[in-house]
Amino acid sequence: MLNTENFSFDDVQKAHLRIAPHVARTPVMRSQTADNLTGAKLFFKCESFQGTGAFKFRGACNALLQFTAEQKARGVVTFSSGNHAQAIAKAAQQFGMRAVIVMPQDAPVIKVAATRGYGGEVVLYDRYTEDREQIGRRLAQEQGLSLIPPYDHLHVMAGQGTSAKELIEDVGTLDVLFVPLGGGGLLSGCATAAKALNPHCKVIGVEPLAGNDGQQSFRTGGIVHIETPNTIADGAQTQHLGQLTFPVIQQYVDDIVTVTDAQLIDTMKFFASRMKLMVEPTGCLGAALALSGQIDLRGLRVGVIVSGGNVDLACFAALIQQSE
Ligand SMILES: *Cc1c(COP(=O)(O)O)cnc(C)c1O
Repeated sequence: MLNTENFSFDDVQKAHLRIAPHVARTPVMRSQTADNLTGAKLFFKCESFQGTGAFKFRGACNALLQFTAEQKARGVVTFSSGNHAQAIAKAAQQFGMRAVIVMPQDAPVIKVAATRGYGGEVVLYDRYTEDREQIGRRLAQEQGLSLIPPYDHLHVMAGQGTSAKELIEDVGTLDVLFVPLGGGGLLSGCATAAKALNPHCKVIGVEPLAGNDGQQSFRTGGIVHIETPNTIADGAQTQHLGQLTFPVIQQYVDDIVTVTDAQLIDTMKFFASRMKLMVEPTGCLGAALALSGQIDLRGLRVGVIVSGGNVDLACFAALIQQSE
């Protein structure tokens, strides 16, 4: 297992200086209702207002801004059907380089369209018979592209950590920080930043119950692989934590807790009706736990990373309706 010496808060600080001119300093929102429900002071860091609608733009910018002139001339490749695809495509467009995105044939039409809209060249594959990582690596080799994976990359992790850094800089010390968890890019970066700024702050990763590989890994001390989980939290349908993210999570994270899809839907409704916020299911993971009463938060200052807002309107409506 890799040690964590090659990743520290210094990387997050440098990432922040590098990306600050290119990314949004997203707003922190409060809710009297949420505070009353929990007896805590909740601070929602709204990455739904980040470029491309999710925090992934931070990591993408931090990775591409460190390309050499030669890498920049050749371009970037990645595999993702979700927010990382759009983040890489938009960052590449902004920095004037080519981006090739490997996406499944059955990816939602709007996601393929959004990625193409940012100038990304989409390469489709059959996810039942082909391996996206292999295709990404092959394209990288054949065309001299640099591969930037969605979470298991030090520059990506450092970029994602700037979200927690901004939150703590803006609101002051926190007792607890809740962070959505997929492959662990966001959690590893945010935990590193939170513990450096605020050693007493507890950092909790939050996963969908159906895909609790992170929790299993955290408890057993080894990376657990699972089948693609069946959950509405499509940004957290990862099958395993990363070789780079896991040791950082082991070092800085206090616990990993799960929530159900029903809790995610309730939280989407809460955000929409009470806070006028459009949040995607995965973006609700941290808030769903904070609002659930599963953890006693009375009297505490609580940070919640609201990681993204990209949800198709018809899908949003269907989820809300099915729970009425
Ligand atoms: C990717 C993503 C996550 C999970 O991030 P990881 O770095 O893979 O853990 C959470 N929320 C949203 C909105 C995402 O796009």
